Amino acid sequence: LPSYAVLSWQPLRRQLRAWTTAVLLAPLWSTALLGLLSLWGRTELNDADLQAMRAAARTPNAILTMVMSGVFNIAFLVLLVGRLLTRLREGARVDHLTGVLNRRAIEERLEAAWEQHRRTGCGLAIAMMDLDHFKRINDLQGHEAGDQTLALVGETLREQLRPYDSVGRWGGEEFLLIWLGPSAEGVLRSCERLREALAQRAQAQLKMPLTASFGVALLRASDVAEVDLVRRADAALYQAKREGRDRVCLAGPAPVLHAA
Ligand code: GH3
Ligand code: MG
Ligand code: MG
Repeated sequence: LPSYAVLSWQPLRRQLRAWTTAVLLAPLWSTALLGLLSLWGRTELNDADLQAMRAAARTPNAILTMVMSGVFNIAFLVLLVGRLLTRLREGARVDHLTGVLNRRAIEERLEAAWEQHRRTGCGLAIAMMDLDHFKRINDLQGHEAGDQTLALVGETLREQLRPYDSVGRWGGEEFLLIWLGPSAEGVLRSCERLREALAQRAQAQLKMPLTASFGVALLRASDVAEVDLVRRADAALYQAKREGRDRVCLAGPAPVLHAA
């Protein structure tokens, strides 16, 4: 039992946090400790004392064992169900092919970012990114190569962005990126860095050229909802495609409204 109590620490620790592992193993450790103490006590006692002690300890021992195994089983079940639910929740938010957030989750992030902007006045910027001539990859190299490319794009996006920026698959080969509180230069630099990283990774790992176009939209005082940002990012992306692809375009200035 003592060696089991010690050996259980590492495998559980790989799955759980330190304090959770400690709670889970506490009954096992205390039972092991009691066992060791009684072994040590036996060497000090004569046979008659030992018999009397055993008889006196039988009922408390049985109760203690039942309570401890009960605690252990319940704690184990609660942790198992908790982990399962967390995995299911995470799975429901992640796009399985690219590993970035799925459409619903990135929409929720955008709503949350908009709310944060309304509450705190912090800046907000988004970019719509679309792979260039992606259909050709499917047509010339097959759908599997297309999927492999999308997976690499997802991996690169996750690697390049900071943990508090968000990225999700908007649909097909189109991705939405969200930054909170950035400067225009910062966002444009991030997109340029991503564009270069994508091209380099595709060349190095898939041995093929890959380019992407970006449409960037920064928050404006006239924006009334997050959809205004999305519309502008879409228009800027369209402009990037029209101007020759493989580039980052910033949504133009707001149209000046003239009084009639
Ligand atoms: P453009 O530069 O104008 O964006 O050209 P494009 O070929 O990238 O654009 P288009 O919208 O014509 O094609 C997008 C293609 O992406 C079509 C579709 O078959 C492919 N696609 C969308 N989702 C997936 C996917 O999950 N896997 C694969 N392999 N292909 C996908
Ligand atoms: Mg495309
Ligand atoms: Mg597209």
